[in-house]
Amino acid sequence: ETFPGDFSKNPIQRNTPKVMFSTIDPVGFEDPELIIFNEKLSKEIGLGKLDGDTNFLVGNNLPENIKTYATAYAGHQFGNWAGQLGDGRAIFAGEIENDKGQKTEIQWKGAGATPYSRHADGRAVLRSSVREYLMSEAMHHLGIPTTRALSLSFTGENVVRDMMYSGNPQEEKGAVVVRTAESFLRFGHFELMSAQKEIDTLQKLADFTITNYFPEISSVGEQKYKDFFQSVCTKTADLMVEWFRVGFVHGVMNTDNMSILGLTIDYGPFSMMDEYDLNFTPNTTDLPGRRYAFGKQGQISQWNLWQLANALFPLIKDEQFLEETLNQYGTYFWKAHDQILCKKFGFDELKESDEEFFINWQGLMQELQLDYTLFFNLLEKIDNISGIKTEFNKISYTFFDESKSNKLENFLQVYKTRLEKNIISREESLDLMRKTNPKFLLRNYLLFECIEEINEGKTEMLDKLIKALENPYKEIFPEFSVKRPLNYDDISGCSMLS
Ligand code: AMP
Ligand code: MG
Ligand code: MG
Repeated sequence: ETFPGDFSKNPIQRNTPKVMFSTIDPVGFEDPELIIFNEKLSKEIGLGKLDGDTNFLVGNNLPENIKTYATAYAGHQFGNWAGQLGDGRAIFAGEIENDKGQKTEIQWKGAGATPYSRHADGRAVLRSSVREYLMSEAMHHLGIPTTRALSLSFTGENVVRDMMYSGNPQEEKGAVVVRTAESFLRFGHFELMSAQKEIDTLQKLADFTITNYFPEISSVGEQKYKDFFQSVCTKTADLMVEWFRVGFVHGVMNTDNMSILGLTIDYGPFSMMDEYDLNFTPNTTDLPGRRYAFGKQGQISQWNLWQLANALFPLIKDEQFLEETLNQYGTYFWKAHDQILCKKFGFDELKESDEEFFINWQGLMQELQLDYTLFFNLLEKIDNISGIKTEFNKISYTFFDESKSNKLENFLQVYKTRLEKNIISREESLDLMRKTNPKFLLRNYLLFECIEEINEGKTEMLDKLIKALENPYKEIFPEFSVKRPLNYDDISGCSMLS
């Protein structure tokens, strides 16, 4: 169903009762310039060689038969019901099918306002667009479920932004990212229909989602929706464990930013974690509460699933089932969490004594402020403790005195003894570590430097980063295997953003 009326003549927020989308055209840009095109992805999804078609990639000159649209959703933001939201700066180009019958949705991000933009402009700036393009591709190559990026273009127009709410707005280059996903459906889509008490539409939406994206569900009636909820819980928990594995902190885990398919979605003030810190949040607007800190992502995803359970209640009127499923979520998450930690350390299986080992490890990481990723890379050389001891100095963000050095050495001895209890060979154990612990991490300061360069018209760093992020389990550029330089402190726009 299409919302009646011409949006461009009446640019106010739409309430869209009974309707989950509005047709809307991209604004069009006079002087676009293509910066990156993801040829591999284009072939994979069945789009073929679009390279050079800069006009399509920013939403210009669309063929007559393309009906473009934006969807309505709702959400809980920072723990509070935010009511109706929607695709404020994303417009769907539709869906494409490849020769294997796989379907992919395509969106422009930053191609103009939609009926859900509220008072914002529907535009995106180069900075946030480069970050989304590169990080979503980095996550994909790390093997983590995510939306993906097909292209990045300058729009040729400038956009006004106030970076730090300084009251001093600056002009930045506008950009459009074309992004893809099997589906962009969020928890918030279900919340909207439920909140509006449109149970028929809610059911249609759930049926549509199950038929298209959960083909393994064969049950009927209420059981179908129970299996669906259970599956969303499992996919979400698996994603949270994957984020933990690589140290990804999302930064804005509102329910409108939670994918129903368990994809990483909505790349905003995210950051890879440098020094291990459970309290690390990259989002300046998440202070002082740190709701979305690294160590809370498991818990917050469960809170978000509670909201989804509430939204699905009209279809699953079984409180006991919902509560039990949500309680099991915690058990499932922590078990998977410990198992991934096992792999990171190269242990063949989880032993009871490992729990204490992990707790001690956490304490050590926090006290010695060690770099999360580089720490596990260094552990590969554990056979030579005296040889690598001083290298830990280089991956710490604090001063190493005698007592810290001793603590580290003790820990390494305990670790070595634990490794000896492995049934698998040393080579197999190392193999496990190399597959689990990335060698390359797209750190915020690298993104920052890359964006500075692009702004100056250079793409050397960009090309290098793309090569590195496509092979994250190899060390292609040794200069990237170092901790964040100390001149990049927390508020220089490198670790924290809003
Ligand atoms: P986010 O914090 O990115 O999840 O955004 C929250 C809501 O604000 C979503 O509905 C977005 O579509 C909308 N939004 C964010 N930025 C813009 C923008 N520049 N123009 C229009 N809508 C926006
Ligand atoms: Mg969002
Ligand atoms: Mg966003």
